[in-house]
Amino acid sequence: AGSVAAASPILKNLHLKCATPLPVLRHIADAMAADMRAGLAADGASDLKMILSYVDSLPTGNEKGLFYALDLGGTNFRVLRVQLGGKDNRVVDTEFEQVSIPQELMHGSTEELFDFIASGLARFVAKEGEKFRLPQGRKREIGFTFSFPVKQTSIDSGILIKWTKGFAVSGTAGKDVVACLNEALKRQGMDMRVSALVNDAVGTLAGARYWDDDVMVAVILGTGTNACYIEHMDAIPKLQDLTTGSGKTIINTEWGAFSTGLPLTEFDKDMDKESINPGEQIFEKTISGMYLGEIVRRVLLKMAEVSALFGDYVPDKLSVPFVLRTPDLCAMHQDDSEDLEAVDLILNDTVGVTRSSPDARKIVAEVCDTIVKRGGRLAGAGIVGILQKMEQDSKGLIFGKRTVVAMDGGLYEHYPQYRKYLKESVTELLGSEASKNVIIEHTKDGSGIGAALLAAINSKYS
Ligand code: ADP
Repeated sequence: AGSVAAASPILKNLHLKCATPLPVLRHIADAMAADMRAGLAADGASDLKMILSYVDSLPTGNEKGLFYALDLGGTNFRVLRVQLGGKDNRVVDTEFEQVSIPQELMHGSTEELFDFIASGLARFVAKEGEKFRLPQGRKREIGFTFSFPVKQTSIDSGILIKWTKGFAVSGTAGKDVVACLNEALKRQGMDMRVSALVNDAVGTLAGARYWDDDVMVAVILGTGTNACYIEHMDAIPKLQDLTTGSGKTIINTEWGAFSTGLPLTEFDKDMDKESINPGEQIFEKTISGMYLGEIVRRVLLKMAEVSALFGDYVPDKLSVPFVLRTPDLCAMHQDDSEDLEAVDLILNDTVGVTRSSPDARKIVAEVCDTIVKRGGRLAGAGIVGILQKMEQDSKGLIFGKRTVVAMDGGLYEHYPQYRKYLKESVTELLGSEASKNVIIEHTKDGSGIGAALLAAINSKYS
């Protein structure tokens, strides 16, 4: 297996293949804008689905009253209540709880899962204190954030296309998930009403917009990734006869499916081939938290096989898919000490490397940096693509004034280098003038409040 130095050509080649110089970023931003247009023109015409959210009124700050939000998107579900006090008092009070979903329910029946959620919500509602007030004669209303692929049919209904993220609940696909929840609420004897069904990116945009009128785009970078933005109705050719009061609506891009012009390596291609959805979600597989660690693992495995990166053997655990997780990359990335002791420790913990040489650690750190840099810069190019599309349609209304992109998700929140690379790419692409006007801003838990706000806006009592 030779020396550590034998890993150098692989590293060099990785640098080359993952490079994202300005012309590459520009090409990707342009392709994103073009794919958005194609997806708005006709269903199925683009990698980007450009899904209608049916959210066509945005929060103004005037929303008042008690509203609930329910968020189902992963291994937990979250419930939240908020007392909205209008322009002057804003969020008077808010409370939330998180409940983890037992593994067996993720593989059970629709009724079992929704009964579990409804009973969790019932317990939470039972604890509603004095600070929250529901006017006489009103039902409690819920904004339901449901982060699985849904074909939305109105603001308060949507059909599940398929479960993802480890869920395999029988009998839900093809059904209206709002009806499923309403029936479970009824079985619990709960008199509540789902007023809005929202995707998490859409909820984040609504939540951020409540505080800041300049928010135009929201991006989620967590386990997966998605983005949505505010579009003019007359810029959506596939929607010829639908008109709304405001003339604007939120479009859910489902941008994880983007694939044009991405700089991909053999490691990306192998990971995709062996994934549960080969050929799909290529942008997501290049930039989101679920995959960055796995790409790095694949590079390190190859290096360990052809060189003596970790001595004259390949650690067993290095062959286990997804053992190296993005938070591990992040922890290694924070080590700026001379001899990278933390990198050594994490390699030991995660992939069972008993002892690494300082040279090997340096190579590992460079592999992490290369993959994370590519991810952050491509995410930045995607954001610029969306802004560019909006600017083309409304000259000066995006780059000529303050425009905010609301960011959320664990990857963006916890990974400072990723954030830095993303912002650098946006600045490089926009140039110093336009980038002064574009603000990339983290919004913590915008989506929960956002769903409650959308329930308020779409209340049957207003
Ligand atoms: P989800 O996207 O699963 O709904 P989050 O937005 O909380 O939930 O994102 C969780 C993801 O964020 C994890 O899967 C992981 O990829 C990423 N993440 C969490 N913590 C860190 C960290 N410290 N460093 C880098 N990435 C992290």
